[in-house]
Amino acid sequence: MTLDVEKIRKDFPILKSMANGKPLVYLDNAATAQKPRQVINAVSKHYKKSNANVHRGIYKLAEDATAQYIKSKETVAKFVGAESYRSVIYFRSTTEAINAVARAWGDVNVDKGDHILITEMEHHSNIVPWQMLAKRKEAVLDYVKVSDGKFLDHDDFVSKLSLKPKIVAFSHVSNVLGTINQAQEMTKMAHEAGSTVLIDGAQAVPHMPVNVSEINADFYAFSGHKMLGPSGIGVLYGSEEILEGMAPFHGGGDMIRTVDFQESTWNELPWKFEAGTQNIEGAIGLAAAIKYLKRLGMENVREHEKTLTSYALDRLSHAGVTIHGPGKEDMDKKAGVISFSMKGAHAHDIAQIFDSEGVAIRSGHHCAMPLVTKILNEPAVPRMSFYIYNTQAEIDTAIASLDKVREILKIQR
Ligand code: PMP
Repeated sequence: MTLDVEKIRKDFPILKSMANGKPLVYLDNAATAQKPRQVINAVSKHYKKSNANVHRGIYKLAEDATAQYIKSKETVAKFVGAESYRSVIYFRSTTEAINAVARAWGDVNVDKGDHILITEMEHHSNIVPWQMLAKRKEAVLDYVKVSDGKFLDHDDFVSKLSLKPKIVAFSHVSNVLGTINQAQEMTKMAHEAGSTVLIDGAQAVPHMPVNVSEINADFYAFSGHKMLGPSGIGVLYGSEEILEGMAPFHGGGDMIRTVDFQESTWNELPWKFEAGTQNIEGAIGLAAAIKYLKRLGMENVREHEKTLTSYALDRLSHAGVTIHGPGKEDMDKKAGVISFSMKGAHAHDIAQIFDSEGVAIRSGHHCAMPLVTKILNEPAVPRMSFYIYNTQAEIDTAIASLDKVREILKIQR
């Protein structure tokens, strides 16, 4: 079913904005998504009608807030195919979720000389925590190569797995190339090598159907703010068996069963990993965002983005730019993220000129410096990224802005 984009756009108050005197064209969805009134209202309603701390009070308001908090976890678990909400831990973001695994799981399971395997297409949030772990433990950090500036090199993956890494961590979808990695197949191969698997799903869960049980990942992380939800709420899915065996990451209120002067015992899952007052309104907003996405249907969301991306790739292929990542011939492995370069124009100048036309795109290394500077060989790249409310007309506006770039920077075709 195709999305009714005009109807969807009416739900997003910010899309009525003007930017530099032009109608806003928001194409920076890989950085964060805009919020529909259903999410804004859910957060606002919570503050107006059910605000109280969770798990603590025995009065009606606190019980309402607690019920909504647990319901949010059940909604998340169902949305990504987790067995139960016991596997759903809330953190601030994908970044904090990965750091929690690198600390709470990594510090116990990775020893001197062990291998940790990640890939050359990772976001810093799936690089730096592993670098820090490798330094703490004197472990070896290996990278699966990116071939052709597009896909992970299968043979290199096989060869690095033969080093029996303790953990294999990779992104489901690259935030620079838009490459969709074969998460299920890679997880199976990593498990056969005896590795534990963490998947960074920050760019996948908002944009396509994801089932963590089918993928069989041990850990899977994603962020609320990229999927229409509030900032400050991120999800770590973990297999119950592994989470049960892990010590907590943060200590404090709520995550304990008993506390004595020297020793404490831990609460049950998922509460063992959530110390102190949580982002209750964030959890409620995230559940509202998931409700919104479910109503559209994630298959339809993916199809809409596929159509837009394919259209944009077509237009860009005649626009005198170099497109990075998989192209039109690989649409099944390409998400709605397009980075490109234009000879003679710096990425920041392109983004600035786009901005003067009301078009919001991102330029830089996109928190993937090794990929952008070493593999794409660019100091920075401009990036367009799409979501449910974007239209072909908006892509036309973006492409027309490229003519403006050429005109201002005096670049010949
Ligand atoms: N991984 C990927 C692939 C991302 O695109 C991002 C956000 N740009 C992150 C991780 C980090 O997400 P957050 O900032 O919400 O922690």
